[in-house]
Amino acid sequence: MIQFDQVSKRYPGGHEALNKLSFHMPPGDMRFLTGHSGAGKSTLLKLIMVMERATSGQVLIGGRNVSKLPARKIPELRRDIGVVFQNHQLLFDRSVFDNVALPLIIAGYGHRDVGRRVRAALDKVGLLDKEKLNPITLSGGEQQRVGIARAVVNKPALLLADEPTGNLDPQLSAEIMRLFEQFNQVGVTVLIATHDLSLIARMPYKLLSLRNGQLVNAGGGDERE
Ligand code: ADP
Ligand code: ADP
Repeated sequence: MIQFDQVSKRYPGGHEALNKLSFHMPPGDMRFLTGHSGAGKSTLLKLIMVMERATSGQVLIGGRNVSKLPARKIPELRRDIGVVFQNHQLLFDRSVFDNVALPLIIAGYGHRDVGRRVRAALDKVGLLDKEKLNPITLSGGEQQRVGIARAVVNKPALLLADEPTGNLDPQLSAEIMRLFEQFNQVGVTVLIATHDLSLIARMPYKLLSLRNGQLVNAGGGDERE
């Protein structure tokens, strides 16, 4: 599903954010991407979404080499990738329903499909009764669940999250992680960037640990192979 071969990323200005990174993540896998601030986690996710391009090396997503993907093909790739952000980037001038519907409307789905899929997604995150509310009236954990519903409403094969629990307390964070596990259990490949090691310590998933743009396998146990 995700394959990096000797991928380096150097930003204009000369900083090398990723350095000859290679790894492979099979379909249906769930992993955590860890590392200190500045280690390269966001850059790695941006290369998968083709929000940035590798300076050298190859990034393959679903067998496609996206390092060379023409710009006009990027929307098609992104339709198959759901993304959850720390600050969830919801629109506060419209309802929960309309926030979740947005990716479907952009993709050109008809009215009935939109309604059916939005309600299926809201049901999965336990917010079916909140569809008419403005997300500004919801708690932080509920807002994050709206962000997750929006990320999965297209039924993406791949779900990426960048610090999805960054603003939440430990109990809400654990609930959000359980939601990601539920999507993984129905076959979605899940990659979650987090620096909250205490949250993921007891979870049985492999780690991709970055330090200065390279994978580390600290003490042999870190990769949990
Ligand atoms: P993380 O998500 O692990 O905090 P990032 O991928 O955001 O790490 O950043 C990795 C390195 O690349 C950092 O040193 C950061 O300052 C640098 N960096 C990130 N984005 C840019 C950019 N747009 N321009 C220049 N340097 C950047
Ligand atoms: P439908 O035929 O109604 O479009 P499916 O039969 O393909 O939906 O899927 C059944 C249920 O599983 C739906 O509620 C759908 O939201 C959910 N589902 C399937 N794949 C995914 C996915 N990748 N992410 C989130 N939910 C999914």
